Amino acid sequence: MLYKRSSELFVEALKYIPGGVNSPVRAFKSVGGTPIYVKKANGAYLYDEDNNQYIDYINSWGPMILGHAYEPVVNAVIEKTKQGTSFGTPTEIETEIAQLAVSMVPNIDKIRFVNSGTEACMSAVRLARGFTNREKIIKFRGCYHGHSDSFLIAAGSGLSTFGVPSSPGVTKGTAQDTLLANFNDIESVIELFKANPNQIAAIIIEPVAGNMGCVPPVNNFLQKLRSICDENGTLLIFDEVMTGFRLAKGGAQELYNVTADIVCFGKVIGGGLPVGAFAARTEIMDYLAPVGPVYQAGTLSGNPLAMAAGLAMLQAINNDTELFNRLEEKTAYLEAGIRNVLTQNNKTFTINRVGSMISVFFCDITVENYEDAAKADTPEFKKFFHDLLERGVYIAPSSYETWFITDALTYDDLDKTIEVINEVTK
Ligand SMILES: *Cc1c(COP(=O)(O)O)cnc(C)c1O
Repeated sequence: MLYKRSSELFVEALKYIPGGVNSPVRAFKSVGGTPIYVKKANGAYLYDEDNNQYIDYINSWGPMILGHAYEPVVNAVIEKTKQGTSFGTPTEIETEIAQLAVSMVPNIDKIRFVNSGTEACMSAVRLARGFTNREKIIKFRGCYHGHSDSFLIAAGSGLSTFGVPSSPGVTKGTAQDTLLANFNDIESVIELFKANPNQIAAIIIEPVAGNMGCVPPVNNFLQKLRSICDENGTLLIFDEVMTGFRLAKGGAQELYNVTADIVCFGKVIGGGLPVGAFAARTEIMDYLAPVGPVYQAGTLSGNPLAMAAGLAMLQAINNDTELFNRLEEKTAYLEAGIRNVLTQNNKTFTINRVGSMISVFFCDITVENYEDAAKADTPEFKKFFHDLLERGVYIAPSSYETWFITDALTYDDLDKTIEVINEVTK
């Protein structure tokens, strides 16, 4: 394929935008090469500025679960736009989408809308701290909760020590309040509670990790976290920015039958527009301003266009009783096909999958945490990525990213993808 126009656009962008991009992973740094510039997208396909067509397995990092340019969402936004784009006053549609979201998701009574997943997680943690009157939080290595200071933390010198900043600009003071545990390792969590008695406001977790590749919880890990939180007066925050409205109508809470105290949303809930949200039972949510003391606000929060897109998306998901079955069947079909050809071609690999989230790791171990996932970060992935791209299959440009399957994919698309994977791994 030719990437002439994309290359030119990237060179121009580099002059005016740091790294040429407005979000780092788009720059292809971990796989090398030049990012493709997408001109338009429809259904399961992306079209770049050089008119190359790709089968899309990223889907805007999750939101486009029903395909690109999904008509009900596009039409809802067009119609809303004609009425004006922002008022800074309450609007009826905010209550409509809030009511629908609350009806779909277990264990939440009220929801507040923000503009991104980052904002949702940041606000959820502040709310948990205010509600419990405690300062520390636990997060898991390899889980991503957006780019706010409290989450950009690396491991300290030992399990019961404090975290250290993983980015310049994050203060040591902030890092001290974030404790790090290992995903799927309940002992690492118990140790932190022992070392920090009555100080932990919340545990925040991606219930199915999606930012170290797809890593499911094992051995009732989520249930165990629930119990530890209950025993210690700590709130359990599920960051369902990726899993919400994707793994089930009610997200991971529904799928694993575990109750979270606060749930964060993003991605699918905005139908492709910038939306995030956090939700909990009334007792917790009424701790937020203007009812309660915890401050949180946003000039464009609940923006009418964003709400129109999100509402049309959630309605489509809510009204389609077969959607999650179809997504499961399509992704299982893809998984079986990939397993088949990689085995035939004598590749060493591990595939993790939950519903329509799937990852291929080139390694010979099971992947249950960040340390495992890091072992699969090999040159083989880079070649795999570029070989697929060259043949019109677009997967995420990093081995730490999950593939997101869209309902717009046909079995022909899946067969084509499996055949391409066969070709490039022969
Ligand atoms: C994408 C993501 C975020 C951050 O959302 P943004 O909208 O990019 O700020 C937070 N948590 C998880 C689990 C995510 O996948």
